[in-house]
Amino acid sequence: MTGAPLATPDVLVIGAGITGASAALQLAEMGASVELIDRYGPAAMASGWTLAGVRQSGRHPAELPLARSAVALWPELDERLGAETGYRRSGNLRLARNAAEAETIRALVADQSAAGLDLRYLADLAAIREIAPPLSDEVVAASFCPTDGHADPVATVSAFARRASEQGATLAFGETVRHLETRGGRISRVITDRRALAPGAVLLAAGFLANELLAPLGTTLPLRRPMVTVLRSAPIAPLLAPVLGVANADMAARQELTGRLRVTSGAEDWAGGLVERAGAPAIRPRIRSVQATIDKVRRVLPAFAEAELEDVWAGALDLTPDALPVIDRVPEFENLVVAAGFSGHGFGIGPVTGPMAARLAIGEEPDDRLASFRFDRFADGAVATAPLTLHG
Ligand SMILES: Cc1cc2nc3c(=O)[nH]c(=O)nc-3n(C[C@H](O)[C@H](O)[C@H](O)COP(=O)(O)OP(=O)(O)OC[C@H]3O[C@@H](n4cnc5c(N)ncnc54)[C@H](O)[C@@H]3O)c2cc1C
Repeated sequence: MTGAPLATPDVLVIGAGITGASAALQLAEMGASVELIDRYGPAAMASGWTLAGVRQSGRHPAELPLARSAVALWPELDERLGAETGYRRSGNLRLARNAAEAETIRALVADQSAAGLDLRYLADLAAIREIAPPLSDEVVAASFCPTDGHADPVATVSAFARRASEQGATLAFGETVRHLETRGGRISRVITDRRALAPGAVLLAAGFLANELLAPLGTTLPLRRPMVTVLRSAPIAPLLAPVLGVANADMAARQELTGRLRVTSGAEDWAGGLVERAGAPAIRPRIRSVQATIDKVRRVLPAFAEAELEDVWAGALDLTPDALPVIDRVPEFENLVVAAGFSGHGFGIGPVTGPMAARLAIGEEPDDRLASFRFDRFADGAVATAPLTLHG
């Protein structure tokens, strides 16, 4: 720490994933002075490791309104950000591979159609193959949401950060926040590995690492941190337009605009331990998880096993007990807002949730839609544990 003047942005956003980067743009557009800080850079963790499905189908009722707002907003992002996000509204097929999964999907379609979502139940393989011709005859039924889709996560998050900078935000990448100092129920100073800052408010959007900064303040989110294995093929000819999920969330797949197939496993336990790979944070997948993921994906999409493998990695989730995020002021600290715990499905809704958190950070009243995402909802142990999370 030097004698340089203390930076005093209105809001310091910690974490340049989709949540923090979209929050920083919102703040800059609203005229607030904002600094966006990240230990690495844009999309370095979950927002880069992600499958990057942009879906409403399979969302919890509390998240569905946010997902619908996000899907309305995604088509405008290229123009607003002045960059390609790679967003395509090419649908989401959630597959059933047996009768029990077909029942799960039928119930999902009934619930979400009643909530007003255009979600169709496809009872036979011929109808499913009209949407995704390469699927195998392991598939017995599916739901199809035509307004779901996917995007390029690194391009999207980088575009948010760049636009925020153009609108006046300061970007501080390669800098780690070490500690939040408090005084009189407020965050008084923020200590990084380089300097101290005295922001008016702090927006903590640090993903699965949020508790590293919360725990020393005597408060934490009840996060589990499972990992998901991801494989990506070399580019192949156009094969698959929609994102694929399955009823029990043990795999998902999509074809990037580059032609690469990008597939994910279900969530599994992770002992922790980030490593660095080419200067970026990385989690090493287990070899047996790689093998299991290939097996699961090839059963429904045989062409995957014929493609050349280009890359393999794993990503951590920030899983809350009810698999819903926390977007709220931290009760004990009036100028600290947390937006974390997105539980494996925070990418698609990021362009909406980041700005909502940003508005809290500058003192606006909480949006009604945030009622299910309060910080203290786990305090009395009343929240039921969610049985599964759906990726894709
Ligand atoms: C394999 C996988 C598949 C997924 N699939 C989907 C999907 O299909 N659809 C979907 O909607 N969601 C999906 N998700 C979830 C989604 O990617 C995340 O919910 C979302 O990206 C979280 O964004 P974030 O900005 O909140 O956190 P992150 O992207 O994790 O960003 C947190 C940032 O904080 C920084 N940071 C942390 N601590 C500090 C510190 N002390 N100082 C400075 N910087 C710090 C990190 O470097 C990081 O860049 C998936 C996730 C994974 C891992």
